[in-house]
Amino acid sequence: MKRSLYYIALMFVICIASCSSDESSSTDDMVGVGDDDGGDGSIPNNARSTGASAAELLTTADFDQLVIEAIYLNGAEPRSASLDNLEDFLEARLNKPDGIQIIERNIQVENEDSYTIDEIAQIEEDNRTQFNTENAIAVSVIFANRPNAANQGNSVVLGTAYRNTSLVMFQETIEEFSGGVGQPSRVVLESTVYNHEFGHIMGLVNLGTPLQSDHEDANNPKHCDVDGCLMFFEVNGGNILDLMGLSSVPEFDSQCLADLRANGGR
Ligand SMILES: [Zn+2]
Ligand SMILES: [Zn+2]
Repeated sequence: MKRSLYYIALMFVICIASCSSDESSSTDDMVGVGDDDGGDGSIPNNARSTGASAAELLTTADFDQLVIEAIYLNGAEPRSASLDNLEDFLEARLNKPDGIQIIERNIQVENEDSYTIDEIAQIEEDNRTQFNTENAIAVSVIFANRPNAANQGNSVVLGTAYRNTSLVMFQETIEEFSGGVGQPSRVVLESTVYNHEFGHIMGLVNLGTPLQSDHEDANNPKHCDVDGCLMFFEVNGGNILDLMGLSSVPEFDSQCLADLRANGGR
């Protein structure tokens, strides 16, 4: 196997730091409570930076239920097994006694060649219907029908966590790099990307969930330095991940798990 042919540089989270602060002002109207984090008894909102809802997801302090709004652009649907995997993954980590609900919607959008994260955020703002309530925290996941505009050759963005409860998965790119000869199965790659991005909104690594040990990758901030961990992915060049060797979905290593548990997760 000429594995080097299939190396992909992942840029899972190019937007974590750069997009979170400047977008919050334009999305305050998403829930009508400004930048409130709920500290005064109001409902924490959906327009904060990536990682800001880590404890709200992990614990029962604010919410007992999780509602995921899965928005498919022009039919860009994942495999149902990938959504089942995601639900199992989240149930194992989050304290949500009233359960996890996934609401699926297919919407039609004008066909673009590619999307910037700002354009994805606008689609979310125009179409999202699920927001935090008294009992439930809501997460919006856009499943994009076209690639990220920043893709260059084998350096591709498969998903991005761009706000505290906002994710995008680039389905066309995931499909391109899965299911073929020498590639991981589509369900394995989808589940890897989905779980990884949810890991970011759970506050990993050092992104709202405090470090219990020194395992943030100095060369790839907000990621884990343990090779093989779900949160170990190179951003751009350098150590690139042999994703094509994936035969199963990576799991959190012990240090990421310790961080989540110390912040109230399971
Ligand atoms: Zn990442
Ligand atoms: Zn880790």
